Amino acid sequence: MSEAAPPRPPEKGPCDLLVHGTGGIMGTVEGADALAISDGKVLAAGTEAELRARYEPAHQVDAHGLLGLPGFVDAHTHPAFAAGRAQEFDWRAEGLDYLEIAARGGGIHSSVRAVREASEEELTACVAAHFRRMQRHGTTTCEAKSGYGLSLEDERKSLRAIHAAAAATGMQVRATCLAAHMVPLEHQESPDRYLDLLCEEILPAIREEQLAEAADVFIEQGAFDLAAGRRYLERAKELGYGLRVHADQFHALGGVQLAVELEAESVDHLEVLSDAGLEALAMSRKVHAGLLPAVPHFLRQADDAPARRLIAAEVPYFVATDFNPGSSYTASLPEAAHFARIRLRLSSAEALHGITHGAACSLGLGQTKGRLDPGFDADFVLCELPDLAHLGYGFGENPVQRVFVAGRELR
Ligand SMILES: [Zn+2]
Repeated sequence: MSEAAPPRPPEKGPCDLLVHGTGGIMGTVEGADALAISDGKVLAAGTEAELRARYEPAHQVDAHGLLGLPGFVDAHTHPAFAAGRAQEFDWRAEGLDYLEIAARGGGIHSSVRAVREASEEELTACVAAHFRRMQRHGTTTCEAKSGYGLSLEDERKSLRAIHAAAAATGMQVRATCLAAHMVPLEHQESPDRYLDLLCEEILPAIREEQLAEAADVFIEQGAFDLAAGRRYLERAKELGYGLRVHADQFHALGGVQLAVELEAESVDHLEVLSDAGLEALAMSRKVHAGLLPAVPHFLRQADDAPARRLIAAEVPYFVATDFNPGSSYTASLPEAAHFARIRLRLSSAEALHGITHGAACSLGLGQTKGRLDPGFDADFVLCELPDLAHLGYGFGENPVQRVFVAGRELR
């Protein structure tokens, strides 16, 4: 009778990096406080003891006292601007309204002027500075829109600047062509001519040059009406763009129902979402609701998107900054999470979903971004937060201490 051999401990496998000692790794295995990472991907999340028993790490990060969260994903930003509009902010304090500000040379057309005057190198430097601000606040992936060029040449320059700035900073970017942001001044007398230009020249050229994966339109009074939005979006869809839509920010013009009909990736704002729009989103459950709660704060708007009703109807959603110089001058998703909790009544877990996996799903990145499960990209942030309930509880301060993209720390 042979004696049974004593069980041998299982062989340890190599891993590039072990992150240990955290106050918790959120959004993954219950009770996990450590991450094992190789080749830029998450190998495993678990307790430090479990992971040390399984892996021999080449490098380690002691994250003592910090909370581990997936790298933030900002699914709605306008970073391709060359100058802020702080002067305008003073005019608003004096009581000037939107039209009076425009008459003084402010508003979106002033951003267009600045982008047109900037060289591609100068614009790239501005976008890179914006991406670095976003990264300091934990954003590792973003959607980045053009939309302050409003001519083929200047939209192309804006999108090239976005890609060059992404390469320079390590920001992971999905670019969106928002040439239908506003009718530029030179076409104010003949907006149909600009729509022709969008559909016949700008959208095809941008697609041909692979400068943007999605197209976006601002459907609103003073921007594009529903018929123009339909023509632009149908053309974009025909050309193979994903569709994203700004709708129901101040007036419910039917843009939400159009977004659902055309199977857009997302329809964003929704501060004045109609019952019919909500019903269309609830029937679809595929088109993401883009929640931008810092905007009504910034604009002193009384209306908020009906986030609780959307979530109750199981509409997929994300929370984003809408970072731009005119209506939301914050690059911080923790700040957006704060406004989501205050104004939209989201829980901390719902806010986290909104700035991570919900956002990734809206960009078609739900299999690789926004979670710290095995096989996902090792994009993560270490935050000075005692627990998840503190996400968005404090405001006006940055909880993000360290930022990692594909397992490498951004410095
Ligand atoms: Zn926007």
